[in-house]
Amino acid sequence: MLGARDLPRTRDGPRRARPTPRHAGITGSGYGDRVSTIPSAQPSAQPGARPVPGTARPAGPTAEDEVVAICRDLIRIDTTNYGDGSGPGERDAAEHVAGLLAEVGLEPHVFESAPRRTSLIARVEGSDRSRPALLVHGHLDVVPARAEDWAVHPFSGEERDGCLWGRGAVDMKDMDAIVLATVRAMLRAGERPPRDVVLAFLADEEAGGVMGAHHAVDHHAGLLDGVTEAVSEVGGFSVDLAGRRAYLLQTAEKGIIWLRLVAHGRAGHGSQTNPDNAVTRLAAAVARIGAHEWPVEVPATVRAFLEGVHDVTGRRVATGDGTALRLDVPALRELLGTAARWVEATVSNTSNPTALEAGYKHNVIPGTATALIDCRFLPGRDEELVATIRELAGPDVEIETVIRDVALEVPFEGPLVDAMVGALHAEDPDAVVLPYCLSGGTDNKGFSRLGIAGYGFAPLRLPAELDFAGMFHGVDERVPLESLRFGVRTFDRFLRTC
Ligand SMILES: [Zn+2]
Repeated sequence: MLGARDLPRTRDGPRRARPTPRHAGITGSGYGDRVSTIPSAQPSAQPGARPVPGTARPAGPTAEDEVVAICRDLIRIDTTNYGDGSGPGERDAAEHVAGLLAEVGLEPHVFESAPRRTSLIARVEGSDRSRPALLVHGHLDVVPARAEDWAVHPFSGEERDGCLWGRGAVDMKDMDAIVLATVRAMLRAGERPPRDVVLAFLADEEAGGVMGAHHAVDHHAGLLDGVTEAVSEVGGFSVDLAGRRAYLLQTAEKGIIWLRLVAHGRAGHGSQTNPDNAVTRLAAAVARIGAHEWPVEVPATVRAFLEGVHDVTGRRVATGDGTALRLDVPALRELLGTAARWVEATVSNTSNPTALEAGYKHNVIPGTATALIDCRFLPGRDEELVATIRELAGPDVEIETVIRDVALEVPFEGPLVDAMVGALHAEDPDAVVLPYCLSGGTDNKGFSRLGIAGYGFAPLRLPAELDFAGMFHGVDERVPLESLRFGVRTFDRFLRTC
């Protein structure tokens, strides 16, 4: 399916890659659990699609007709996840999505990890039921948005300048809508994917998925029976690479360890000598951790990405090799724009102090001081990271693990990868497809606990000048309408060949 001309060397590197099925230490919520099945007869919200005269098929609107309206309707449902359970929850969005699926004959299982923290899973039966199933998952929650920072209200779902605007337009109600529109059109036309496709729309991805993907794995794994592979967000979008369009398929993601440092000391008067000052102790630990230069070790995915960039552009964005490799960050940024941000941190572990808390009065030395550290590790490097942080923190600082979840790496080869690359090439024949490692994380981490190999494939052909990577969790999040339509055409091809 792939010409050697298109992907000369990038197909070789990741062959060495393999899934890393280490398990997260994340457990279920402890909340009661409710499961319901939305019957297919339930009336649902009308997504508001307007068939273009003369193009509508008798079976109903096409996926391209529907995708913008579905995305807009999802954006208008506020699913802000503040990370502390104080948000509106995902229930309204989940019920809306369940309705859209029930309308075309599916029977979604809707469940809650806590009141209003709602997810749903539905199975589309494929024509060959003996084959392993594919999971297509998307999250329903979004990160907070401050309306005063935005050009439009973040929950308006406004169309402007050929784009759909709002929180979630990029992360990731766009892909949710692409999946929904594609599946609805396929089922309305009486067609089926070649194998079972399990659809999951999840709560809580933006806070690590404990109340969403991890909950589903812990309490509803039966709904994922037979699933071996998955596709989801933060991959499959195009970047401009020296005038050539390149689609970045996500085949790896870094692992995450969020730590809280707690320094104890002797409380007392601010005028006195105090060699046992918790603030001083904490500040020194934080400074050491923040300034630490982590050794370079390039994962197979990143190596393949760097080779691919060289093949396409003739330019090298890294010097040296192995542990001596140094990324040429300015060159990377020049070539990739803000998408370089996903790549820059994927050649080493990182440890960034993100919060400090201590003290309550100018002349009172507090007894404790705390700091939050956001650590990300490459596949297989988590134990090394923890040991190094312990050493850097020093003996008088306690370290608590707040969140810990795996790093992932899967092969850039095989039938599923061929289906993704083939679908992109069918819609955009001159483009190249490169594997890459995401510096952040996705719900693929949670599903990896079931041995599911997860990819990032939310196909979007984007204008070169659009700051797409910069809009993840950014202001004025927006997605071009044409990109959504490209997404459903590509995803439809993918689902027919998956
Ligand atoms: Zn996301």
